[in-house]
Amino acid sequence: MAQSITTVRTVKELRAELAKWRKAGDTIALVPTMGALHAGHLSLIAVAKSNADRVIASIFVNPAQFGPREDLAHYPRNEAGDVQELAEAGADLVFLPDVAEMYPPGFATRVSLPSLTEDLCGAARPNHFEGVATVVTKLLLQSTPDVAVFGEKDYQQLLMIKRLVRDLDLPVRIVSAPVVREEDGLALSSRNGYLSPAERATAPILFQVLSEVAAGLAEGQGCDAIASAGRFKLEAKGFRVDYVAIRDPETLAPLSGPIKGPARVLGAVYLGKTRLIDNVPAAPKSR
Ligand code: AMP
Repeated sequence: MAQSITTVRTVKELRAELAKWRKAGDTIALVPTMGALHAGHLSLIAVAKSNADRVIASIFVNPAQFGPREDLAHYPRNEAGDVQELAEAGADLVFLPDVAEMYPPGFATRVSLPSLTEDLCGAARPNHFEGVATVVTKLLLQSTPDVAVFGEKDYQQLLMIKRLVRDLDLPVRIVSAPVVREEDGLALSSRNGYLSPAERATAPILFQVLSEVAAGLAEGQGCDAIASAGRFKLEAKGFRVDYVAIRDPETLAPLSGPIKGPARVLGAVYLGKTRLIDNVPAAPKSR
């Protein structure tokens, strides 16, 4: 049964609600989202609930993280449905700021981590991560949670947020949650709805190929050769490949040769106009 959920749209209202919880001694977890919620987002709410007494979800389609030719105007929005799902998932409060609340006239501050965001998705989406870092910093300062939960689906984003929290001494613990997938392996994404039936049928091959790359790495194949083979397979199936990359799972530094420890296999592709990203862990087979 759906519990009641409080909806607030301003930082002032948000802080008034938080003050009541703090007074009662409750700990607080934040789950930032852009809405159009699916089971991946709801898994983050479950993780948040197991890490704190109270859970805030934010829904904000952040213009600062979209490029001029990207899908801001078409990004799926479903406020009433999202609030209902958050209530059913047991979130206590949903923060729904509008653009003027987040970026009042004269807003001039940017948070950026160039060394972590210049390549992979940052290469194709030049201002994207600066937009994410800026809005996440604001959300963390607005809600001052004990814990904030992010998905491994956006792996580069997750590492960037961990780093900014460390660099800026923000008093919050970042908790990550694994990628939630459809039965056929496709990672859930608010953008999957853009796929035509034919593209949707092809889309799970991204996860299959990344998993094959991880299996090849486990067998001792070299990073460069197996990443190129993965790219080739994806192109043969009709994807336009942005990257298939094998990286250090903590620093995102490129790896070469056979892997000697844990690694992350990351991929970004286009099917028609839709950009899909995914990633899987890899490790050498223990002998
Ligand atoms: P978004 O609404 O796309 O900004 O995503 C909000 C949060 O949900 C981010 O921390 C994402 O990494 C996470 N997320 C999105 N899709 C998934 C998924 N399939 N599994 C787990 N987490 C996800």
